[in-house]
Amino acid sequence: MPTSIYDETHGLFRAAVRNFVANEMTPRFDEWEKAGIMDREIYANAGRHGFVGFNMPESHGGGGSNDFRFNAVVSEELAYAGMGGAGNGIGLQNDIVSPYFIAYCTDEQKDRWWPGIASGEKILAIAMTEPGTGSDLASIATTADPDGDEYVVNGAKTFITNGINADLVVAVARTGEGRDGLSLLVVERGMPGFERGRNLDKIGQKSADTAELFFTDVRVPKANLLGEEGKAMKYLSFNLAQERLSLAINGVAVAEAAVQWTVDYVKERTAFGQPIAAFQNTKFVLAEVDTEVTVARAYMDQCILDHVHGELSPAGAAKAKLYGSELQNRVTDKCLQLFGGYGYMSEYPIGVAYTDARVATIYGGTSEIMKTIISQDILA
Ligand SMILES: Cc1cc2nc3c(=O)[nH]c(=O)nc-3n(C[C@H](O)[C@H](O)[C@H](O)COP(=O)(O)OP(=O)(O)OC[C@H]3O[C@@H](n4cnc5c(N)ncnc54)[C@H](O)[C@@H]3O)c2cc1C
Repeated sequence: MPTSIYDETHGLFRAAVRNFVANEMTPRFDEWEKAGIMDREIYANAGRHGFVGFNMPESHGGGGSNDFRFNAVVSEELAYAGMGGAGNGIGLQNDIVSPYFIAYCTDEQKDRWWPGIASGEKILAIAMTEPGTGSDLASIATTADPDGDEYVVNGAKTFITNGINADLVVAVARTGEGRDGLSLLVVERGMPGFERGRNLDKIGQKSADTAELFFTDVRVPKANLLGEEGKAMKYLSFNLAQERLSLAINGVAVAEAAVQWTVDYVKERTAFGQPIAAFQNTKFVLAEVDTEVTVARAYMDQCILDHVHGELSPAGAAKAKLYGSELQNRVTDKCLQLFGGYGYMSEYPIGVAYTDARVATIYGGTSEIMKTIISQDILA
């Protein structure tokens, strides 16, 4: 369990988050898993308790923290409590989308959007992936054609987390040719021509709503451009490092939780007249996974500190994402085996964690794309 990178303030914050998750989220988790979506109110509730929006500036109702360790604490606690897809939705809000608003809003946009983001009343999503392209972001085809004070947006996005619940969608759209022709536009709930498709039926991460989005002649005011026109790739490459670190932290924390759940289980369950824990295979598997998570935790802590100091490189974040997400899959798989048939049941956190883990090597950039980034850095 974490470690020297956290001080007393983080410890107090951790205790409060743990309490919030236990009281406000865990009792509703099954309901969300069955519904395929969390109720919107949980974001505002988390906002009232200071666990959403704590990274937004104080001037507009946020907590004013730029210490990423608080983000890490929230991710870890959600993972330790087995919140899977529900944790994903909150993590997306805090770690992945709000940083774009913090970094690139004009003064007018700050007044319009920051208070709702800080309070958790405005739910966020980021829409990069399209039916025809995911890994290859430069091939994004959604268009945003200028027309007076507006862009006319046409296209479709898919696999968008918070896609149903989102009020503000940061959409990557083409305002020109090539890599320098992509821009970030904020498409808002209720804009005519902006429609949501199905809440997609996934094999895991059930509590997170993941949707298709359709834009048909959506007239988005130019006042909703985030940052400068044509700079989306630059902004994405800067912010994707934090997104990948966030996913990596989740991966390691899920693996830590899986080991703990398994240790508890194998001491209780018996076979052939002895606890499962007494078999040499069980001891060796636990020794292996515990060693792996201990080593991973050391690198993850270093990455968190590097990020706090503004020194985490894209390749460093890619290594964390690659290792953390692959570890999450390996460890949940090995641990589930030690639960026998019970491990395959959704009522056991290990079963949920196993199916939730599968997407970790895919979203936020696949393992193959992480290897591409890392190898480019090594060979540069
Ligand atoms: C549950 C879920 C939530 C998601 N949430 C979001 C979200 O909120 N916002 C968003 O924009 N997107 C989201 N995504 C999309 C996700 O980021 C993409 O699925 C991912 O980037 C991969 O893109 P793709 O699915 O188009 O796969 P493809 O790019 O078609 O890749 C298919 C396979 O080819 C491999 N491949 C591709 N290019 C190369 C290469 N150059 N070298 C070697 N192998 C390669 C890939 O690694 C993969 O194995 C989500 C996806 C899922 C499943």
